[in-house]
Amino acid sequence: DGITLEKVREYVWEIPREDGMRVPARVLASEALLEQISDDKTLQQLKNTAHLPGISEHALCMPDGHQGYGFPVGGVAGLDAEEGCISPGGVGYDINCGVRMVRTNLTYDDVAGREEELVDALFANVPSGLGGGGVVESGIDTVEAILDRGMEWALEEGYAVPADLDHCEDEGVREDSDPAAVSQKAKDRGKNQIGSLGSGNHFLEVQRVTDVFREDVAEAYGLAEDRIVVLIHCGSRGLGHQVCTDYLRKIEKRHGDLLAELPDKELAAAPAGSELAEEYYGAMCAAINFAWVNRQLITHRTRAVFERVFGRDHEEMGMELLYDVAHNIAKKEVHEVDGEERELYVHRKGATRAFPAGHPEVPAAYREVGQPVIIPGSMGAGSYVLRGGSESMAETFGSTAHGAGRVMSRTQAKNEFWGEDVRDDLQDQDRIYVKAQSGATVAEEAPGVYKDVDEVVRVSDALGIGDRVARTFPVCNIKG
Ligand code: 5GP
Ligand code: MN
Ligand code: MN
Repeated sequence: DGITLEKVREYVWEIPREDGMRVPARVLASEALLEQISDDKTLQQLKNTAHLPGISEHALCMPDGHQGYGFPVGGVAGLDAEEGCISPGGVGYDINCGVRMVRTNLTYDDVAGREEELVDALFANVPSGLGGGGVVESGIDTVEAILDRGMEWALEEGYAVPADLDHCEDEGVREDSDPAAVSQKAKDRGKNQIGSLGSGNHFLEVQRVTDVFREDVAEAYGLAEDRIVVLIHCGSRGLGHQVCTDYLRKIEKRHGDLLAELPDKELAAAPAGSELAEEYYGAMCAAINFAWVNRQLITHRTRAVFERVFGRDHEEMGMELLYDVAHNIAKKEVHEVDGEERELYVHRKGATRAFPAGHPEVPAAYREVGQPVIIPGSMGAGSYVLRGGSESMAETFGSTAHGAGRVMSRTQAKNEFWGEDVRDDLQDQDRIYVKAQSGATVAEEAPGVYKDVDEVVRVSDALGIGDRVARTFPVCNIKG
């Protein structure tokens, strides 16, 4: 629709700067992916984000990009933390939606033939679905402690082991959290959802490692062919959603002058240094802590289920957290911009941090090989473990893709697929056991609604922003 793209080099496409854009925009994709990305409003949304004050270098879209709220999903923007702004739409509604991988020393042989027993036990014990009910039922005091202390709270309460914190970004605690900036309504929504998957795109999947591409890195990550791993994908539930809603409204109202200069109302942003920028940042960091605890409590439950099903301790089964990555966050980070070190609010919206080997923020256990990056594909396709690549700091503010990325809307998907059929096919053809709260969810998340994850990862690897380490394939999957 009239958006010009110039090829910079293999897999790098640029939308040149024009009217109101402060920087050019870039899409990182193969031609096949670019064609899918061009199908919805993604490119227009990407162009729009280039209008934000303080945007540095380029507005970026990762290879899995698709249309989102304001920013595209797959969008990365480095907005100057002194002269720029922060935008809730650039973080997304599900603050710190993310995935973690738990490794085990079980092999596929240990699980094959017992998939149904395992999937039933997981489904019965890991809370999922729309409404309430989590691993812990709590009052506001507990919610506030979680917002304040993140995974340290989980450790103190016996839901985590110390290594879980070592293998999480920021050791599972965002120090900039400000629980007082989170509304009562948000806290109330979080109260009975602590330790719950939620619905739709969120899932828990048992997988087996099918391929190893970089032996040395896989070894550092504790991965080997045929090993069983568990992937947990969920976010901050109603609490994070309410934080986003609250601050979008406040920012739209108070910073209407800035909004009037932007091409899309969904880009509402608070200028760096303003009261609302600080408050939103504090509230968002609190929601980040909440999401980490959410994934931790599900990890705790998963360990208990494996202990019951396989009759061994989780330590004995080597059920350690490999790593936990965030999909939807903004973070103050220092990056080189036009040859100068600047503090930026790096917005990653449906994108994953991918810091390279040697970066001081990579956990000590992985610093020599680079940060683990976990890229889910779909319930019927492979998923990947990558490591942050050597080019990520220069190209993408240390980021890469977060998944395969949708090619069709949920509504479209429900017309296209029938949940029961999808489930039966997966079981009969691929021995993948899926259990969901509703058939509609299975249709909305059918493998066919997603792009080709192999292609997304191939682009990431070729660009050197995230390098392939291992590929996995689903064994069983539970969904909300
Ligand atoms: P999002 O965070 O955007 O909701 O999802 C991230 C990615 O997860 C999607 O782009 C998709 O590739 C992947 N995904 C969605 N459902 C499943 C699933 O059931 N299993 C796996 N392995 N990946 C999934
Ligand atoms: Mn989410
Ligand atoms: Mn997500």
